[in-house]
Amino acid sequence: MPYTAPLSDYEFLLYNVAGLDGIAATDRFADADRDVVSAILNEAGKMCRDVLEPLRRVGDLHPATLENGVVRTPPGFGHGWNAIAEGGWVGISSDPGFGGMGLPMTVATAVNEMMSAACLSLQIAPLMTQGQIEALEHHASDELKALYLPKLISGEWVGTMNLTEPQAGSDVGALSTRAEPNGDGTYAVSGQKIFISWGDNDFSENVCHLVLARLPDAAPGTKGISLFLVPRNLPDENGAPGVANTLNVVSLEHKLGLHGSPTCVMQYDGAKGWLVGEPHKGMAAMFTMMNNARLGVGGQGVGIAEGAYQHALAYAQERKQGRSAPTGTILDHADVRRMLIEMRADTFASRAILLACAGAIDMGHATGDANWIARAAFLTPIAKTFGTETGICVAETGVQVHGGMGFIEETGAAQFYRDVRVTAIYEGTSGIQAMDLVSRKMMDGGEAAARLLDEIEDHAERARATLPELAGPVWEATESLRETTEWLVAQGDMNERFAGALPYLRAFARVLGAHYHLVAALAEPEGPRAKLARFYIHALLPEYTGLLVQAQNGSADLFALSADDLAA
Ligand SMILES: Cc1cc2nc3c(=O)[nH]c(=O)nc-3n(C[C@H](O)[C@H](O)[C@H](O)COP(=O)(O)OP(=O)(O)OC[C@H]3O[C@@H](n4cnc5c(N)ncnc54)[C@H](O)[C@@H]3O)c2cc1C
Repeated sequence: MPYTAPLSDYEFLLYNVAGLDGIAATDRFADADRDVVSAILNEAGKMCRDVLEPLRRVGDLHPATLENGVVRTPPGFGHGWNAIAEGGWVGISSDPGFGGMGLPMTVATAVNEMMSAACLSLQIAPLMTQGQIEALEHHASDELKALYLPKLISGEWVGTMNLTEPQAGSDVGALSTRAEPNGDGTYAVSGQKIFISWGDNDFSENVCHLVLARLPDAAPGTKGISLFLVPRNLPDENGAPGVANTLNVVSLEHKLGLHGSPTCVMQYDGAKGWLVGEPHKGMAAMFTMMNNARLGVGGQGVGIAEGAYQHALAYAQERKQGRSAPTGTILDHADVRRMLIEMRADTFASRAILLACAGAIDMGHATGDANWIARAAFLTPIAKTFGTETGICVAETGVQVHGGMGFIEETGAAQFYRDVRVTAIYEGTSGIQAMDLVSRKMMDGGEAAARLLDEIEDHAERARATLPELAGPVWEATESLRETTEWLVAQGDMNERFAGALPYLRAFARVLGAHYHLVAALAEPEGPRAKLARFYIHALLPEYTGLLVQAQNGSADLFALSADDLAA
């Protein structure tokens, strides 16, 4: 069934949650007025419906393959990439000086979410390229920028991100790929990288790899990592792709889902590369790309949630089982209603968190204000994890709405579930995100968290006059969350924080979601969004109580069982 971009929700959230009017009032984003944004979202929505959505199933049925060392992409993917590139969607938030549109991240996030809903396996390619563009914009030399950015932004070249090695997954500091100076300012990069999304393709002129590697004098761990730009084809004197670099795709992974996306084992044999940023400061540079990608992967989850919801709703509107009224379909059954409304309410909440995070990123970029930067940093792990977990839960519920047909591949319900599962794993697993939230993002003694909780409480306080039955529970949940936040900050032993980090993150997301639903209910008290808010706040928000108990349970029970006990 055709995908319909949720333009009304974007419009509501961009202006009522993400603060796009305020963003457009800054010098940097002055071009992003309401008409421009509306036209952009409409155009992107059409491209997703007409070009990308038909590719979703094609990619699943005709996976990317490796033929004599050459990656062959599914039929139509090259056409899909060209549509993305020609629409300007790769460089939507990139520097106009190099051909980008220079639009806010909030708008890019909405467009990326649409592309994920339509065809996730292809959308990873522009997402990785966007992350690379941002890393180069911030950290590359002027020469590298001038050569690479226009090609990446126009979509003539595709970008990838190479961190993972067999022994270095979550522990990036364990990587062993080496980079030796060639004596002419370039480096010879050698080593193996695994799980590299879109490590090659048969539709772009060139593929540019951002590779983490160690210089000869590097310290162990993350402090000794540098970042290199390693193109598949070395640019000639005119900047056109020239001779092949000494790197190749060794094999492609066979995966649970995302079959259209080639996930490559890459071998670098003294491949020529250029340093990006300072020696040994590669992690800082790579973090620019990773933060971009974390938000983007959160959006992948939200996009799949939207796609799975639309699919399930369409099925429920057709399927007749039992005597029911008024529609005569399964939509009349209370349990089917519960599933669909949970799907929709959580999709709204996760999209709101995602766009609020993107809005904070934009304000941080436009103003340099430390509070906006801290807000964006705090929200990023929540947006990533709640977005992806919502994608997984909603897709799983979508299978259930379909009954037995959900388990049969033809309906497409199962593909959403298979495709989205990895989003909670790559770009830092949910556990790693949660640990980041309760450690690095609380190094300020919980200040960024407290400021956000203050805002939510103030808003709930103001809402009490008109919507007391919704505002009250939001205020109380926020107060409980504040107590747990203070408890976490007081734990000097990090393992005590880590033991409950993920339940804490989930509780935070529940409360944030309730806050944004309350914003919607206040803005449109008689509309469908207010009805959805009621369901979310009455039925889903209360999960926070159990989650906060888990968050404060500490590590003792987890480590009471020895490794032998676990195996007994
Ligand atoms: C389809 C796909 C595409 C990918 N694309 C890319 C790509 O383009 N570029 C790239 O560089 N990588 C890519 N990856 C790799 C991905 O980022 C890693 O798989 C991910 O970071 C997890 O690393 P790992 O698989 O080694 O798991 P591990 O690190 O071995 O983790 C196993 C489990 O242990 C947990 N764990 C690990 N360390 C800790 C800790 N310190 N504290 C608590 N829990 C911990 C994890 O949360 C997880 O549950 C991709 C992976 C897949 C499957």
